[in-house]
Amino acid sequence: MWMKVDVLGSYGARLPGFSTASFMIDDRLLIDAGTVTWTLPLEQQLAIDDILLTHAHLDHMVDLAFLADNVFGLRKEPIRVWAPGAVLSSLHEHLFNNKVWPDFSNLPGNGGASLAFCPLDESGACDVAGFQLEWARTNHPVCCAGYLLRSGTSAVLFSGDTGTTEDLWNLGRRCRDLKAAFVEASFPNSRHEMATASGHLTPALLAGELKKLNRDELTILVYHMKPQFLDEILAELAELDREGLQALKGGESFRF
Ligand SMILES: [Zn+2]
Ligand SMILES: [Zn+2]
Repeated sequence: MWMKVDVLGSYGARLPGFSTASFMIDDRLLIDAGTVTWTLPLEQQLAIDDILLTHAHLDHMVDLAFLADNVFGLRKEPIRVWAPGAVLSSLHEHLFNNKVWPDFSNLPGNGGASLAFCPLDESGACDVAGFQLEWARTNHPVCCAGYLLRSGTSAVLFSGDTGTTEDLWNLGRRCRDLKAAFVEASFPNSRHEMATASGHLTPALLAGELKKLNRDELTILVYHMKPQFLDEILAELAELDREGLQALKGGESFRF
């Protein structure tokens, strides 16, 4: 059985032609919501039943605000939003708080709620949208999760935002069915200090993380590049000379 991954957005900032992280899995589970409402027509937005968020930074969840509004009153059931409890609390408290934006998880009236917040099991393993999910905290200034998603004999890993880390690579290393890893590399090597201070990777740091993952046969799909430094980052990724490593541009569709 294939797992289809459509890349809706793949960068670490927004500029014309560059949009922030969102991956659609099998047309029904969205991982992160940086770019949804202006890439998918309304009928495809209405078909999203589940969203898995890595963390509550704006570039990963901003479109949840607009999506909740777009589908309000048009769905029978709310969209389930899955993330570690601390991520959902942050969203609820700082975005869906009836001040910055309505609390779409608790709206009176005929439309009902358009979002349901679903904290992930703290054990690190659960089922989401028919997928088997394992997750691990990553190294980022706010609570952030990386995900290992499995369907049948296919598994794909998503790093979320992270600096150098361990637990997530342990998950990936021992998963025999792992086919691909979507991994961040935000800054060029010349901005090493900026990257480590903000909990991100450079191509040089990524090379070290891939050694920990220790799965040379994997397809590595790099995302969350800052477009301001894109030429430098792409040149440094090419210098890694790793077979199967590709920098994402957005718009790609993969089957694993
Ligand atoms: Zn972040
Ligand atoms: Zn980010």
